[in-house]
Amino acid sequence: MSRSISCLLTVLASGMLPITIPLATVQAQSVTDARVLVVGIDGVRVDMLARADTPVLDSLAESGFFSDEAKTRVRTVSGPGWSSMLTGVRTAKHGVDSNDFSGNRYADWPDFLTRLEAARPELGTFAVLDWPPLGTTDSGGPLISDAIDHKLNFDGEADGYDHADSMSVVAAAEHLRSGDVHAAFVYLGDPDVVSHATDSFSDAYRASIETADTRLGLLLAALRARPGYERENWLILVSTDHGRNDAGGHGGNSPSETTIFFLAAGPSVTPHRTDCPPEIVDVAATALAHMGIVAEGLDGKPRGLGPGMCGP
Ligand SMILES: [Zn+2]
Repeated sequence: MSRSISCLLTVLASGMLPITIPLATVQAQSVTDARVLVVGIDGVRVDMLARADTPVLDSLAESGFFSDEAKTRVRTVSGPGWSSMLTGVRTAKHGVDSNDFSGNRYADWPDFLTRLEAARPELGTFAVLDWPPLGTTDSGGPLISDAIDHKLNFDGEADGYDHADSMSVVAAAEHLRSGDVHAAFVYLGDPDVVSHATDSFSDAYRASIETADTRLGLLLAALRARPGYERENWLILVSTDHGRNDAGGHGGNSPSETTIFFLAAGPSVTPHRTDCPPEIVDVAATALAHMGIVAEGLDGKPRGLGPGMCGP
């Protein structure tokens, strides 16, 4: 869609018609005004994702780059999982191997929003979190630093994750609809909690994944309602921090725990299938590449932004 708009504007700008607004400027902006929304859903096992009714994720996957064979390559626990996804490096660098975040090296290997804020302070950075270690000093964090422009912390442990996710999404949607935001992360925690309380094949777990999909839809609707949406180049990334074993737990090395999904969608994404699965660290690397930020030493690689991005 954005490509055909760009072509039209080029034709118009070439002098065929009287021009009353600077179309060339609009065209350039439509190509370069990069924005990114990362949505993380905790603990989604890919075979249950396949069984769930998720029209929003299905629609993004159809038009974008999707793999349900992506790999964590870090311990299948939330602390190392989210640390790796959001910094773009694995445990050997960020230092988090459990849900004790106190040994973290985020000062050297910051989350992608903090990295973006440091490189381009004029850009709006935003996160909504309801698992306290991600956004607060609980457990030795936060993973997402206080350097970003807006960080909203809800408490899923105190309020229940279904309720906290609901409040998170309402708050996120409000900011995404009208705020000065170029890069954002929204965390949804309920599926992990539901699966721990039931198992990996429960109707309740499947329903929690479907609710997460509905919530993703609310976030996307908020983006589309932005006054400048048509001129903005939004990349949507969605992934999870780990799968789970049959009983609903995780932390081991079984394929159902180490296999995750990776989804990238938007005008900058080249739809294709891949024989080389993405990794969890590719999420931050892809977000930063889309935003034009060069980050040295990342373990992750940009994925989905063009053909042939697979390989060393
Ligand atoms: Zn988790």
